[in-house]
Amino acid sequence: MKIHEYQARELMAAAGIPVNPSRMVRTVEEAEQATREFFHNGARLVVIKGQVHAGGRGKAGFVKLLRSPDEAHDAATFMLSNRMVSPQTPTEGLEVRRLLVTAGVDIAKEYYLAITTDRATNTNTMIASAEGGVEIEQVAAENPDAIRKMPLHPLLGLQPWQARQLAFDLGFTGKQVGQAVKIMLKLARVFLDTDASLAEINPLIVTPASTEHPDGQVMAIDAKFSFDDNALFRHQNIADMFDAAEENPAELRAKKFGLSYVALDGNIGCLVNGAGLAMSTMDIIKLHGGEPANFLDVGGSASEEAVREAFEIILEDRKVQGVLVNIFGGIMPCDRIARGIVGAATSIGFKVPLVVRLEGTNVRAAREILEAARTDIPTMQTATDIADAARKVSESVAA
Ligand code: GDP
Ligand code: MN
Repeated sequence: MKIHEYQARELMAAAGIPVNPSRMVRTVEEAEQATREFFHNGARLVVIKGQVHAGGRGKAGFVKLLRSPDEAHDAATFMLSNRMVSPQTPTEGLEVRRLLVTAGVDIAKEYYLAITTDRATNTNTMIASAEGGVEIEQVAAENPDAIRKMPLHPLLGLQPWQARQLAFDLGFTGKQVGQAVKIMLKLARVFLDTDASLAEINPLIVTPASTEHPDGQVMAIDAKFSFDDNALFRHQNIADMFDAAEENPAELRAKKFGLSYVALDGNIGCLVNGAGLAMSTMDIIKLHGGEPANFLDVGGSASEEAVREAFEIILEDRKVQGVLVNIFGGIMPCDRIARGIVGAATSIGFKVPLVVRLEGTNVRAAREILEAARTDIPTMQTATDIADAARKVSESVAA
């Protein structure tokens, strides 16, 4: 589960990580009001940022630096009335419903600091770079030596010596070292305490030297956190941060019925039982020149109603030009799927080609149900095996 920047800032502040003052707002008027207050309280710069579950906001025009309160109106209006398009959003972009107004800070240097699971070493790993601010993927691709990695001990977490080594490697000096070390240790603590899968600060910054802070101040001015869904039951405060408006509506609907559904870009809808079979079905579709429109695992114990719901979700996706059903009935009896197909055919109808491949428990009963409904489902073809099914559906979509 992902959360918004303003929520990540709450978690960081609670953990003692310094963040600049900010306020979440939902309207242009509130944004103007908050901007006026920050300027009134002495800020020389105010930043308005779109709150949306995707990064790359700066380049998309959804991070605006304001020098006076008059600029708030246009900045907030733009963000609340345009969809944000960045390399991290779908092509049609995302609607922005919330904004964050921050008291802007002067920046001497930007750094990158994150923790996530390194799948090559199966270890939660701190990733840090003195080349913060810009996209870290680009740094990783063009200048991998600029990225430092430090594995977290499975039981003890990040050790102080590791944080000190990273701080020196990144080039922090004087009092900055102690500040950076504290931030790293606290970030590691939050990551573990919340069962996070990603805790990213980009940028972590140092402010310019001042009389009060001759070495500058190290702080976070942006953050992106996500969490392990399977651990949310033990973090009610984080589960409460869920923002349904940021989720794909079809995926939300599927979740309600206990279906694992992920929307994809292709045009062949897939209904499969079992995650492994779903993955291999997608591979075989691609092998035969097709492109899957979704991943959908109905699982072993889905009810007939859930199966019908699954078909409706697939058929309501306007990209779908053909549907492949691939069921290996072990726990899931094939006749339940067959009744789900007939139910969906009567409730919404299959206007697109449908290819069905069933094997396993109750397959004979299932074939009889489908055979009896053939006139109601004229676009249906049956397949003898999975390669046959993938070929038929790919051909009917290409035709
Ligand atoms: P992102 O593009 O979605 O990652 O949004 P960020 O919040 O990281 O902002 C993008 C960039 O805007 C940062 O890397 C900074 O360079 C700049 N920026 C954001 N907030 C401030 C601020 O308070 N002061 C200054 N000077 N620049 C800021
Ligand atoms: Mn950022």
